[in-house]
Amino acid sequence: MPVSFLHTPIEYLKGIWTARAAILKLELHIFTFNDLLRLYPFRYVDRTKFYKVKEVNDTQVFVQLRGKIVGTQMLGEKRTLRFVAMFMDDTGKLELVWFQGAKWFSENIKPDMNKEYVVFGKPTEFKGKYNIPHPEIEPVSNENTTFAPALQGVYNSTARLTAKGLDSKGISKLVRTLISLPEYKIDECLSAQIILQYQLMNREEAVRQIHFPQNMEFLKKAEFRLKFEELFFIQLKLLKQKNLRENTTRGFVFLKVGDYFNNFYTNHLPFELTGAQKRVTKEIRIDMGSGKQMNRLLQGDVGSGKTLVALLNMLIAMDNGFQTCLMAPTEILANQHFQTFVELVKGQNINVGLLTGSKKTKHRRMIHEQLQSGEMHILIGTHALLEDEVVFKNLGLVVIDEQHRFGVAQRAKMWAKNTQPPHVLIMSATPIPRTLAMTLYGDLDVSTIDEMPPGRKSIQTVHRFDSHRDRVFGFMREQIVLGRQIYIVYPLIKESEKMDYKDLMDGYESIARAFPMPQYQVSIVHGQMKPDAKDYEMQRFVKGETHIMVATTVIEVGVNVPNASVMIIESAERFGLSQLHQLRGRVGRGAEQSYCILMTSHKLSADGRLRMDTMVRTTDGFEIAEVDLKLRGPGDLSGTTQSGVLDLSIADLAKDAQILYAARNMAMELLADDADLSKPENAAMAHYYYSVNNRSQTNWSKIS
Ligand code: ADP
Ligand code: MG
Repeated sequence: MPVSFLHTPIEYLKGIWTARAAILKLELHIFTFNDLLRLYPFRYVDRTKFYKVKEVNDTQVFVQLRGKIVGTQMLGEKRTLRFVAMFMDDTGKLELVWFQGAKWFSENIKPDMNKEYVVFGKPTEFKGKYNIPHPEIEPVSNENTTFAPALQGVYNSTARLTAKGLDSKGISKLVRTLISLPEYKIDECLSAQIILQYQLMNREEAVRQIHFPQNMEFLKKAEFRLKFEELFFIQLKLLKQKNLRENTTRGFVFLKVGDYFNNFYTNHLPFELTGAQKRVTKEIRIDMGSGKQMNRLLQGDVGSGKTLVALLNMLIAMDNGFQTCLMAPTEILANQHFQTFVELVKGQNINVGLLTGSKKTKHRRMIHEQLQSGEMHILIGTHALLEDEVVFKNLGLVVIDEQHRFGVAQRAKMWAKNTQPPHVLIMSATPIPRTLAMTLYGDLDVSTIDEMPPGRKSIQTVHRFDSHRDRVFGFMREQIVLGRQIYIVYPLIKESEKMDYKDLMDGYESIARAFPMPQYQVSIVHGQMKPDAKDYEMQRFVKGETHIMVATTVIEVGVNVPNASVMIIESAERFGLSQLHQLRGRVGRGAEQSYCILMTSHKLSADGRLRMDTMVRTTDGFEIAEVDLKLRGPGDLSGTTQSGVLDLSIADLAKDAQILYAARNMAMELLADDADLSKPENAAMAHYYYSVNNRSQTNWSKIS
């Protein structure tokens, strides 16, 4: 098969020799013409605008000036050797400085009152005066000023690429060469109908404009077109997978709401359900009665009451003659769920079992038997549930808590626990923005609990600098006198584990000094402790024997200690927002007013300051997640790293929500009308869809 134009190896482009090709592959994963075209500029500078020297300041990212060189000088020696040219226009002077290539520039740039230059670069301040290091500089001539594009794309480059002449300008030149080839051609991949409906720029034009925009309006249209296309094909893939699953897999039909449910609901419900709990319970019940196999994400902030929703639906499964199970990511959480469930179903003839890795063989055997005979209604456990020996008589509903700690493969393993796959409900306490949910879990249905149970005291959050530590200690003593317990959390980040460990130990010592025994008892838990020792320390805190728990983030998914009402986060600026939010969720579980104190140094980046302010301002996990998405982009949000769908090349889930919704709707409409993309008017889309989805599989191995 002939290689299509877009898939031509990058080596075939004029201007790319072996060393350049190698570095492009290594640094930017550019293997083909197509890869190069998809390296979009991340910013544009307006080359029609000229500044005056007196307007220059160091907040400007780039300035373009027009003027003359009035003096030059070689300064410094060896590593400080630099060429300095004094540049002047009718408003003032500033220095242009070259370290690299100083010699070459000294030979080529001379003072000349008759020659005008265009200078372009980023100004910096040095000793109260502005200079421009390593500017682009060109003599003014009619030729190049008319050629310069109005908006010039700026490409990401790296030191190694720059060393091969592939700085932003060098890359731009390659793209121009490629786009100017006589063979240059890009096929349309959307149907005429979609193009018309959304008034999209055609694909070939969009690619040209994104690299070399004619003006702002064309750039916006090109961006919209390419973002739409990118999001549309992701949604198409997710929705096709969902369709396929729904068409090939029948689900158990739970039509009955019977005694288990009704008895619990009328006689044992510990509190009135919130509106949100009622709504999602109904969504789940309808889904499980529809005939399709449910794959649903239930998301709700920590403490929003997901457990009760799970139980209600498990009772419905039982009313229809099925067993159910609940899988949690840690032994501690599995234990906690087990105790909660036993308490909730007390006296209702419901058999709840617990299976974790640490259970003895005898206990396991008993569980296995009761599962197979059908005596066991609800099984709660850890990964141990996935083992092959765990065989159910008739499993109808699987609930998975804290989804992001389980992989897709494990979900699939649960499917296989019955000849016909059970319904699956995944509960996540990591709130994620709607756009991200649609992309990450686009093949699932999503239910959201967006309301907290009533009467909860919201956690009071403050931000304090390290220099206020004495006052924080004073506050801690007050709380301890009131009978409360306190968490102090230190960051632990893999790369610098040793340093973190030292921080933790130093912190522990200073706490131990400020809170001496025997008046105060302090626990410490960290990752380098043996499990036994860790457990012992945890238990002392759980039982209320210690006042303060000094820990690393191991407590993030940990025990529930309602009496702990103060969370102090050390070096809070080193945590991401979602992690701060999760940590704060450890307190506020009891009847008492709870507090979260974010400790940071005075030196805070703008980003760090925004994170602290956000935490202080709100306790709404969804709102926090939106800010987190804007700050960090989707790739860094917890639980998203294994997912390839977030490798977006132009769309931005933080900014392009409206485009995403439109693209998803369009994909749904399309599939409703032409599920296998076989209609002739959809041929271009089908062709592109299948080529991308086969190619991306091979590409992955290269990247990961
Ligand atoms: P999560 O969503 O984090 O799993 P849980 O299900 O553990 O939350 O519920 C948190 C707490 O709120 C539990 O103590 C639970 O008993 C309580 N709770 C749940 N639903 C309600 C409600 N409707 N009204 C009052 N308290 C509730
Ligand atoms: Mg929970």
